[in-house]
Amino acid sequence: MSNFVSPKTVLISFTELYYKECLMQYRALFRFYAELNDFLPDKKKHLHFQYAFNGTPAIKDAIEALGIPHTEVALILVNGKQADFSYHLQHEDQVSVYPVFTSLDISSVTTIPKQPLPDVKFICDVHLGKLARHLRMLGLDTLYQNDYTDKLIVRLALEENRCILTKDMAILKNKSVIHGCFIRSNQTIEQVRELMNRLDLSSSIHPFSRCLKCNGLIVSTEKASISDHLKPKTKQYYHEFFRCQNCNGVYWKGSHYQKMMNSIEHYRK
Ligand SMILES: [Zn+2]
Repeated sequence: MSNFVSPKTVLISFTELYYKECLMQYRALFRFYAELNDFLPDKKKHLHFQYAFNGTPAIKDAIEALGIPHTEVALILVNGKQADFSYHLQHEDQVSVYPVFTSLDISSVTTIPKQPLPDVKFICDVHLGKLARHLRMLGLDTLYQNDYTDKLIVRLALEENRCILTKDMAILKNKSVIHGCFIRSNQTIEQVRELMNRLDLSSSIHPFSRCLKCNGLIVSTEKASISDHLKPKTKQYYHEFFRCQNCNGVYWKGSHYQKMMNSIEHYRK
């Protein structure tokens, strides 16, 4: 069978698309604020624009249809009143949507339901290995493996009440995801800063309490118990050692220690 598409077929497709838009019965006016504009095309950034729809879709679905993952939304105002994700959009509604990650403190007014994250715990997607190591260096419980599938990331996040860190919006648009952060920067140090600001992590960090390789907890260990595994110079110059309870990796305050401490102080600023 030929793959040839006749001009007539193409014409019908465009016509259908045009009428699909025209056939939408209702319109609502949306405006997205601050960092949420990162997810919008230029013609919709920082502006009121019309959204066409049929029926009464949940506002969560409308927001995601416009490209914004629900995990990024902290406050929705419909006609000046707060609404949550279950609100059903009505004709001529005026909708303002505000982000989580913003200098504007809206924590006291938001009604978007969030199950509390009892401990600060993360799971990074497969593209954020460096970020995972930095978070572990800060002592933050962070799962990461370069072979995690999106499905497994979502399952582990739900089972262990972890916040998903990702540069993949598709993961955050999964309806079952509760806690997630879309990571904007491509630079690891900036990524850590983003999280420190967004989640106010400075009181949660405990530097050098987790293994950089496996996320296990690190404990102090006697030099005698590991000295067979040390290189001669390490054995000669260092006297304080730590061991990962999970993978048995050995750590000491070597030549990189001060550099790492400096970067930790950098994150706290
Ligand atoms: Zn380990």
